[in-house]
Amino acid sequence: MNTNINNKTVSTKVYLNVPYSRKDEAKNMGAKWDPDFKSWYMLENNRNFDKLTLLFPDIILIGEDRTFGGNQLFVDLIPKSCWFTNVRYCIAEDDWNRLRKIIYQRANNVCECCGELNGKWLEAHERWSYDDKNKIQKLERLIALCKDCHTSTHLGYAQIKGLGEYAVQHLQKVTGFNNKQLQEHIDRAFETWRERSVNEYTLDLRLITNSGIKLNFPIRNA
Ligand SMILES: [Zn+2]
Ligand SMILES: [Zn+2]
Repeated sequence: MNTNINNKTVSTKVYLNVPYSRKDEAKNMGAKWDPDFKSWYMLENNRNFDKLTLLFPDIILIGEDRTFGGNQLFVDLIPKSCWFTNVRYCIAEDDWNRLRKIIYQRANNVCECCGELNGKWLEAHERWSYDDKNKIQKLERLIALCKDCHTSTHLGYAQIKGLGEYAVQHLQKVTGFNNKQLQEHIDRAFETWRERSVNEYTLDLRLITNSGIKLNFPIRNA
């Protein structure tokens, strides 16, 4: 239940990868320079928004590591102690729709793990890093996943929904693991999850807030 969503949205800053030689082109279309992040951006309400994203399709979320976790599919379980369910429930719906459009678009509407084409519903998945010493859980990357890959990566949740077997089959198909590798991978993921679930992490969500998106703190629903 999203009882706590504030629907007032701030216009999202979309950062663009503009080579120096093309800076005037971007500027003339209304892109602005952000001296803090040393990067060009446009506001999503810019009337040239669509044209700019075509000219400069390489969109950046400030601080994002788009190589984080590679493009492999793996089981990635969120610690039980984490209040944050997903970006979707923590930002206004308009912001969410804009953000996911960007994420799907820059992935050419293809699942970034299995390469499945747009026939299957895409979803945006958060990848986190965990600093277990300083207890910081940091959002590193937003990745476009097809529904099946997303179900597999959240295997714990899939099991609760009765989709565990299906999720494991898909995981095996995409990774090419043999049965032994598959079991080891799953066991390790759950072991890590148990270890992390006793920690209370401070969340680092600058990946979202740096883009001008306001966070709402939801009531944990799972
Ligand atoms: Zn996929
Ligand atoms: Zn996810």
